[in-house]
Amino acid sequence: MNDPAAASGGPAVPDLRERVALVRGRVDAAAASAGRDPGEITTIVVTKFHPFSLIEELAGLGVRDVGENRHQEAQAKSAALASLGLNWHFVGQVQGKKARQVRAYAAVIHSVDRSSLVDALASDESTVDCFVQVNLTDDPARGGVQPQELDALVERVQATNGLRLLGLMAVAPLGAEPRRAFARVRELGEQVGRAAPGANHLSMGMSQDYPEAIAEGATHLRIGTAITGNRPVLG
Ligand SMILES: *Cc1c(COP(=O)(O)O)cnc(C)c1O
Repeated sequence: MNDPAAASGGPAVPDLRERVALVRGRVDAAAASAGRDPGEITTIVVTKFHPFSLIEELAGLGVRDVGENRHQEAQAKSAALASLGLNWHFVGQVQGKKARQVRAYAAVIHSVDRSSLVDALASDESTVDCFVQVNLTDDPARGGVQPQELDALVERVQATNGLRLLGLMAVAPLGAEPRRAFARVRELGEQVGRAAPGANHLSMGMSQDYPEAIAEGATHLRIGTAITGNRPVLG
């Protein structure tokens, strides 16, 4: 196994333990000040670019949900670490031709953003949980469906075998006030919840803005560096 941390000395577990505890405490505090039950909030630790060993350490600290954004890396990690019994969340853009492979290991796909991908993810054999990703910018490279195309995409997911829609996923745009961006997602989520009962979850909030996301109803936080430390710079 090619494990870059082995060469670099690897992350120190005590630091990791402190950061996990710190984020858990802040999640609980943000939930309390929003009058929410922290038990309804899932914290996904985004481990992209980090070595396998970091995920083992996280599992040892009680982390159950991990996120990756590149298919090859996610596939390799989920296979090698299958015995940990983690829930693997796929948070990156999914290529149509890789869709079936992603759904084979992913417990949840957060980035359903176009009808051709919905079709590629269809299955009569099993069901995978998913979020529709909404793009809050005008830049199509950012990923996600434009809000005006959201209803049609939600309808398509609803009409497709093998996909269970949990709700909406979004990334707060750079330079925008995160709380306002998340309030917009909450509104769009209410619209989706009317068309698709049960699809009332919101995947939003990252290291820099998860308290604001919790204040606006996030149920799934995707937190990387605040827990893992800086990502190794890989090619
Ligand atoms: C990397 C990533 C995250 C985590 O980002 P941090 O700023 O490190 O918390 C969350 N969501 C997506 C889609 C990502 O690609």
